[in-house]
Amino acid sequence: MKANCWVAPDNVAVQDVPDPRIINPRDAVVRVTSSAICGSDLHLLQGYVPAMRKGDILGHEFMGEIVELGNGVRDGLRVGDRVVVAFPIACGNCTSCERGLHSLCENSNPNAAVAELAMGHSPAGIFGYSHLLGGYAGGQAQYARVPYADVGALKIEDDLPDEKVLFLSDVLPTGYMAAEMCDIERGDVVAVWGAGPVGYFSAVSAFLLGAERVIVIDRFPYRLRLARERAGAETINYEDTDVMDALREMTAGRGPDACIDAVGMEGHHASAALHAYDKTKQAVKAETDRPHALREAVLSCRNGGTISAVGAYTGFIDKFPMGSFMNRSLTMRSGQAHVQRYMRPLLDRIRKGEIDPSAIITHTMRLDDAPRGYDIFKNKREDCVKVVLKP
Ligand code: NAD
Ligand code: ZN
Ligand code: ZN
Repeated sequence: MKANCWVAPDNVAVQDVPDPRIINPRDAVVRVTSSAICGSDLHLLQGYVPAMRKGDILGHEFMGEIVELGNGVRDGLRVGDRVVVAFPIACGNCTSCERGLHSLCENSNPNAAVAELAMGHSPAGIFGYSHLLGGYAGGQAQYARVPYADVGALKIEDDLPDEKVLFLSDVLPTGYMAAEMCDIERGDVVAVWGAGPVGYFSAVSAFLLGAERVIVIDRFPYRLRLARERAGAETINYEDTDVMDALREMTAGRGPDACIDAVGMEGHHASAALHAYDKTKQAVKAETDRPHALREAVLSCRNGGTISAVGAYTGFIDKFPMGSFMNRSLTMRSGQAHVQRYMRPLLDRIRKGEIDPSAIITHTMRLDDAPRGYDIFKNKREDCVKVVLKP
């Protein structure tokens, strides 16, 4: 089959690779019909995540048709079913899964020992997201093996097109969880750094959960326009406005009640230095430029407010304003999204017309065009918000 593979930093290529097959009884093999490119893939592309190897298949936002099932798959899935697949791989039975913390599954990272060295404990495995997080083949491919399919694959009825449900795999639940972690009360003002897919769904979800105002911050006018016109947010362009001053003014001096970081490592000055893929330079960069949005979120938040950090980080991020955080009684919550917990309720909201996830799709292309998709999404060219590949 064909798959989009990581080759080296800033280099992906569509290659011929062996077809996946059932390995464990609870596996399914899915023929992929749609597979998106995520901001998290950009961290892999740019070499910010360690333990990527040449030939690793990328992609963790995919859906398709079940073509093969292991004999231990529960929950009534059948060959021929259309399913959307959650990006964290989770067993459904461990202590974390039973608490609804699926991205912390204790049984899905075969390289847990390596992750423990890097992070103290191991989170769950993730499709197409480095050998630190399991080394699983991803879904930017014609076929994908889905472990624990009865927990991670949600059946979709035929009347809902891929475009409406694909983002249940990641960015919609992630944005929803980002807003949920803010414990929004009626009348709250929520600020969101990043107007990408995650920031957009954070804004939409913050309104659904009762926010009175949502303020989205980015530098791309076309992305800010989407946040205003489709999500109903107010916006700040950080290239022409001082964000902290503007937020103060917009909130009678108090600051937003909650601040969502939907940016992560995509620091706006970092990429140039990384072309050489010099690991030392990379480590230095990670500690200086990149936590810009997170730092601003902490410093802007009202006293006693909440920081919800869903933008992705690896390694150590320095210059965290701990003095501001501690003295002003802030709370910070974070995590890879526990997608499995949100898929069904969010599918209901899509069905009721409360959310139209297809609003973010700007580009649909063949799997063969994945390298071009990465290029325009990374460089935010052609007014790109979200690329969907059609294997
Ligand atoms: P994206 O690249 O499309 O969007 C990021 C946006 O942030 C861009 O529009 C960029 O211009 C903006 N930005 C950069 N620096 C900024 C700054 N200082 N202030 C304000 N905006 C700034 O990516 P995406 O797909 O929306 O993903 C966003 C982040 O969420 C990434 O870090 C991704 O890895 C992470 N993510 C996390 C989870 C999770 O489960 N926690 C899931 C999916 C994605
Ligand atoms: Zn993603
Ligand atoms: Zn588990």
